[in-house]
Amino acid sequence: MSLFRFATGAVLSLAACIGWHYYRTTPTKELSMKPTKMTILGLKYPFTLAPLPYDYKALEPHIDEATMRIHHTKHHQAYIDNANKALEEAPDLQKYTLEELLTNLQSLPESVRTRLQNNAGGHFNHTLFWLMMAPNAQERPNGVVAEAINASLGSFESFKEQFNKAAQSRFGSGWAWLCLNKDKKLVVTSTANQDTPLALGLFPILGLDVWEHAYYLKYQNKRMDYVTAWWSVINWPYVEQLYQEGLKAVV
Ligand code: MN
Repeated sequence: MSLFRFATGAVLSLAACIGWHYYRTTPTKELSMKPTKMTILGLKYPFTLAPLPYDYKALEPHIDEATMRIHHTKHHQAYIDNANKALEEAPDLQKYTLEELLTNLQSLPESVRTRLQNNAGGHFNHTLFWLMMAPNAQERPNGVVAEAINASLGSFESFKEQFNKAAQSRFGSGWAWLCLNKDKKLVVTSTANQDTPLALGLFPILGLDVWEHAYYLKYQNKRMDYVTAWWSVINWPYVEQLYQEGLKAVV
């Protein structure tokens, strides 16, 4: 190999390295990330899987041990791993909380936007979901959440009916939600895939995963049997806590 060819090769390799480094670390456009008051979990990169606050079998017979174990250790873990991978490629986004990322999806670089929508969204939704359930749960809320449900949605029975309808009619995969809106009213809604209420400007206080992976082992195609059973494992004190936080966060 001639010295000239060697030198040319070295220069081209160096240029490629610099180009790759530049491509990997430089955002393609200026980020315009707006701060959010809707900080619920405040989790930041690198994300990790927190243990459940109860046993995998604690929600039996309503939600079975195998489903809880696989849902938590496999499905939730996969969202975490994929969110971390996306943020490895976008170091300038690593300083933001889940809530900041998810309320600013349109500002994220296209190269990672959809992956963060799905996987940061999945991490946010599932972290809340585990906390929103508990063994030995009370049947219905009391106190201010009960009053707020009556005021915004008519009655607990009417709320349950609206929520069940949202869970049933969500085509394919997604979530049913009870949220606080900007007028401090409670609303029932649903989101597709791992989309979060945050992206709609709503503060979630109760959510139900209606992906098949959440119920198929025990309930197969009978989504509504799972939804009916889930009403027995709602952590109402946590819903109340979120409601109180939400009142301060939505303006
Ligand atoms: Mn899930």
